[in-house]
Formats: sequence, structure tokens, C-alpha cells
Amino acid sequence: MSANASIAPTETATQALAAVIEALTAELPPNALVIEAAERRAYECDGLSAYRQVPGAVALPRTRDELLTCLRICREHGVPIIPRGAGTGLSGGALPSETGLLLSMARFNRILEIDPDNRCAVVQPGVRNLAISEAAAPQGLYYAPDPSSQIACSIGGNVAENAGGVHCLKYGLTVHNVIGLELVTLDGETIRLGGKTLDTAGLDLLAFMIGSEGMLGIVTEVTVRLLPRPERTQVLLASFDDVESAGRAVAGIIAAGLIPAGLEMMDNAAIRAAEDFVHAGYPVDAAAILLCELDGTNAEVSEDIMVVRQKLLDLGATEVRTARDDAERARFWAGRKAAFPAAGRISPDYYCMDGTIPRHQLGTVLERINALSREHGLGVCNVFHAGDGNLHPLILYDANQPGQLETAEAFGQQILELCVEVGGTVTGEHGVGVEKLDGMCVQFAAPELEQFHNLRRAFDPLGLLNPGKAVPTLSRCAEFGRQHVHGGQLPHPDLPRL
Ligand SMILES: Cc1cc2nc3c(=O)[nH]c(=O)nc-3n(C[C@H](O)[C@H](O)[C@H](O)COP(=O)(O)OP(=O)(O)OC[C@H]3O[C@@H](n4cnc5c(N)ncnc54)[C@H](O)[C@@H]3O)c2cc1C
Repeated sequence: MSANASIAPTETATQALAAVIEALTAELPPNALVIEAAERRAYECDGLSAYRQVPGAVALPRTRDELLTCLRICREHGVPIIPRGAGTGLSGGALPSETGLLLSMARFNRILEIDPDNRCAVVQPGVRNLAISEAAAPQGLYYAPDPSSQIACSIGGNVAENAGGVHCLKYGLTVHNVIGLELVTLDGETIRLGGKTLDTAGLDLLAFMIGSEGMLGIVTEVTVRLLPRPERTQVLLASFDDVESAGRAVAGIIAAGLIPAGLEMMDNAAIRAAEDFVHAGYPVDAAAILLCELDGTNAEVSEDIMVVRQKLLDLGATEVRTARDDAERARFWAGRKAAFPAAGRISPDYYCMDGTIPRHQLGTVLERINALSREHGLGVCNVFHAGDGNLHPLILYDANQPGQLETAEAFGQQILELCVEVGGTVTGEHGVGVEKLDGMCVQFAAPELEQFHNLRRAFDPLGLLNPGKAVPTLSRCAEFGRQHVHGGQLPHPDLPRL
């Protein structure tokens, strides 16, 4: 997909950026600043590649002093700062600004402490999600929230997006597993929230910060809860002849009081794409499959397998297979975890949506998504955290075909509106970024959005931290309806040109 055209930056913004680059060049070590155009291009987008913008400059601080220097100089010149973790976000949260500083936190990558006594770990924000569990493994512990991108995404990015994953149904999202945070505000002040204890006094700013998408402060340290590794895990694969039944089975299992460690669903298009890619052993003729992970002691898991298996059959499964060994269990999950790249093999581009709905609406919503797919003439693969009601329709399109990106955007917007219509939300775990600003206009009314802006101003009165992301302006929402497809064009109407 080609980079998008943008309006020329104002002279003042260009001059301010030039002054920031000059000051940073003087104060930072030589390898902490990227200013060559070819090197900056590597940072032009996150995992949502439909929107691209080469950043004005990229800073890669390694120390606290270097970070504070970046903040101070940008503040003095009124230049926006866009924090970035690993750049795997799927909503454009780390989309750069042409006249802003992209602040990569990748070099804050040290695991500071694994504390088995308090079952927690203290890490810097650039540490990869999976690296925490790897470091805790010798103590028999792990970090539960496991985004499918966990091999690459950073814990700082997880905090900013309130990331989820397969195991969040039973063990909670990032917000339920982060117990302490250290942040630096735009003013260079350090805020410490929570810690190793179970409860803290004062307002719950910790929860407030989780999911704040880089707008309130730079996360510099994260304390996460670690859990003991279960004695045994097992996976059941249930096949269904229609997606409605699979959707009803998800709600039925939870309603029966069973909380699996993970409950994931894939429709036929996703099954076929994943099977072609990783040969997971999926039934390619099934309309939908559920992957149901059970964990606990040996005895608990043995008992749960019988109960869940029978429940799935009662709820319409045509076949239920239990992974025969660890290798087969890993293959079942490999198919699910590779579903996004698998979609990339069958279509030049895909647009990943992320909405959440009440579980009992799964079947109905999937039917309606398929009807929209026929209406728009674009294919869709559905793969999602079904137990959480968190949908990930992957809309298949070809950006080189005129009009297809706009059609994909319109289709995606209708899916988000559908989520709100049935009582859900416009994001489950990928955040709002720039992608779902219009969806926020559907979900929230002006008084609510105003309060979001007020809270934001309390931390960042200058509006320099990740401007234009996550919370739409009221004027944008007023415009919404007349013009809500951007065709990937930049500047996004809400990205202020400071
Ligand atoms: C194949 C694939 C599968 C995925 N599966 C899942 C999934 O199962 N569940 C899920 O939740 N997500 C998933 N994602 C999305 C993505 O991995 C998550 O949103 C992740 O949390 C982003 O982390 P990151 O380090 O890449 O952050 P980035 O993309 O770099 O940034 C994300 C946001 O965090 C902010 N940010 C980053 N670091 C900091 C910091 N130190 N301080 C303040 N703000 C910061 C940025 O400004 C931006 O707003 C998937 C992505 C891909 C590509």
C-alpha cells in the first residue's frame, strides 16, 4: 500500500521541529536520534498499515535523563511527542506526526526484578510481553495476558492499550494484571501508582492510566502480577455446522458456570486460511470451530474435559476432539495464533476490526457481518476471543484496487456500529488510536467525550502527548455521518498540526 499524501506542514511547526532536532542533537548521544529520511521511514506506521506518516524525527532514549531531555525540549518548542513501544498496535496509536517526535521506548528493555515471594515482576516498558513469562519460568510463574503478538509487543504498549489475549477470559486483561506503574508526565514529573501490595489509598489512577494510549504520560516502569503455572493444560477442538450454534455454545458454556482458560472461535474462512498456512489439523469443512483450553490440577482438568465435552455436544457441536499430546495442543494454538498472518496470505491487504459484544449476540452478529460482506463484495475471516465476546473480523481487500480501501473502511465502521447497537463497544483490546475515532462518536455522547478531554488536559494541558488519538474532538463527531471514510488519507482530520 502506498504512503499517503499529506498537507504541507505549517512553517511554524517545521521551524519548531528543526529547533527540537538541533537541541536534541546537542544533548543526546549520537545514536539516540534518528533524523535520516530513509531510517525514519521504518517508523511510518504500526501494525495498522492503512495509515502512514514518516515521523519528523525519532528519539531512542536509553536512560531516564535522556527521556527527560526529550520531553523538556519538545515541551519548550511545543512539538508533539508520539510514544511508541514495538509498533505492533492495530489501531494507529503510534502513528507518527510529520512535525512531531516519535519517542521509541524500545531501549527501556530491562527486567528489573522477578519477585517470587510477592508473585510479581518489575520491568521496563520496552520488555516484550513473552519475555516476562520466559524470565519467570524458572520460578514456575508466568504473566497471564497473552496477546497473539506477545513474541514482539512491549509491556508498555500493552499497558497503553489495555491489551488482552487468549487467557484473559479467565485471568483478566492487562488492567487486572498490572499492579504498579511509574510514569513521567510531559512536565517531567514522576508519578508512581500502585505497587506490590494488593490495595493502595487514593483515587484509582492506576486503572485510569491503563488503556490511556500514550496521552497522559510515558510509562517508564511496570509491576505485573505473576501466576503459578498450572499443573496441566488441555485443549478441546469442537466443530460446528453453523456459526450461530458455535456462538450459542460459547454463551452456553459460560452460562453453565464453566470458565475455560481460553475460548476462541474461528469461522470457515479463518479455519481454511490457518490450515493452509500452519497445518494445524483443523476440520476444513466445519462452518466454525471453538478452541477451549482448560487448566488446573490434573484431577480438575480431567473432570472438566468430560463436562465441557458433553456440554459442547449438547450445544450442537458435531465433533469434539481432545488434543492427544502437547504437540497437538501446540498445533491447535499455532493455527489460532497464526490466523492474522494466514489472512495476509490469501489477500493483498486485510483490515482487522476489534469490537466487543455481549456473548449471547455472537451468532446473530456473525450472520450480519457475513451479510455485510456480501453487500460490500469483500471477503471476511472471523477469528476471535469468543469467551470475551471480542470479535476480530479481518476484512480482506486490495489497496491497489481503486475504492477497495474506502469500502473496507465503510464495512469496518458498520461492524463497529453493529457492536454498539447490540450493547457492545467499539474496541476490545486494540485501542482507539486513529482508526476508531468515528466509532467513539457512535459510542459516546458529547458530555462523556468532554470529560475525557478534561481528564486529558489535567495531565497534559499543552496537548502534546499523542495528539489526535483515542478521543475524537466534538467537532469531528458533529461532522460524523457526512464524511466518515478517510481512504487512509493524512493528515487525519483530528491530528492537529501544531
Ligand atoms: C499479529 C498481531 C496480533 C495481535 N494480537 C493481539 C491480541 O491478541 N490482543 C491484543 O490486545 N492486541 C493484539 N495485537 C495488537 C498489539 O500487539 C497490542 O495492541 C500491543 O499492546 C501493542 O504493543 P506495542 O508495544 O507494539 O505498542 P505500539 O503499537 O508501539 O503502541 C501502542 C500504543 O501504546 C502507546 N505506548 C507505547 N509504549 C508506551 C509507553 N512506554 N508509554 C506510553 N505510551 C506508550 C503508543 O503511543 C500507542 O498509543 C496484535 C497485533 C498483531 C500485529
